[in-house]
Amino acid sequence: MIYLKTDDEVELLRKANLLIGQTLAELAKLIKPGVTTKQLDAVAEEFIRDHGAEPTFKGFPNHKGIPFPASICTSVNEQVVHGIPNDIPLKDGDIVSIDCGTRLNGFCGDSCYTFPVGEISDEVRQLLRTTKEALYKGIEQAVAGNRIGDISNAIQQHCEANGYDVVREFVGHGVGKDMHEEPQVPNYGRRGSGKVLKDGLCIAIEPMIAMGKRAIYMQQDQWGIVTRDRTPAAHYEHSICVRKGKADILSSFEEIEKVLGEQFI
Ligand code: MG
Ligand code: MG
Repeated sequence: MIYLKTDDEVELLRKANLLIGQTLAELAKLIKPGVTTKQLDAVAEEFIRDHGAEPTFKGFPNHKGIPFPASICTSVNEQVVHGIPNDIPLKDGDIVSIDCGTRLNGFCGDSCYTFPVGEISDEVRQLLRTTKEALYKGIEQAVAGNRIGDISNAIQQHCEANGYDVVREFVGHGVGKDMHEEPQVPNYGRRGSGKVLKDGLCIAIEPMIAMGKRAIYMQQDQWGIVTRDRTPAAHYEHSICVRKGKADILSSFEEIEKVLGEQFI
């Protein structure tokens, strides 16, 4: 069942999503060699709760019913998604994808950004740039009258044209009162396929892109997802509302990129 949002509901979704941009901007100030992802998680949880929201990831059960133990997912280098924050200090040249979910006034935000740690290689910088570009290529297609496959295909084409592989096991999704609603929004697929996009459809679009091959495995903690060939992966996510003419992006990278300054990719 696809649930289209009213304008009032879209504004509530926007508030929950803008809080993520603010939270990630706070983390951007701290991300440098030596900091641990557990430290980032503590800051994120406090910031989210101080703003009257809940971190939706905390306690979220996986396929085995194991609850996610933290407020953010921190996926470092070859980790693609769902990395559990830990005590290992980030190193110069690492990348860390921070996926964050909030619930505010009954509506969920969902957004992710991949951060450079210190100086990253040109090769990795290119992966980040391409993944973020792919996200916006997908968003360009998220207009009323298009189909889900138009978003999926735009993302896939852009990444593959640049020599990267699209992780297929994890996909974007509807977002609303629940963090994961219908429909699924894959990052690969055929143009003109899938459901027609209607005004008021709110979805999270989230390319997860590997520098090498897309094959993945799950870590022993039953959460972290890692590329088999151990090449780095990037993940950017916006929650958007489908509109006629142009999608309305509900989350924001603006404050994050203000903090990143010249590290901005
Ligand atoms: Mg997310
Ligand atoms: Mg998501």
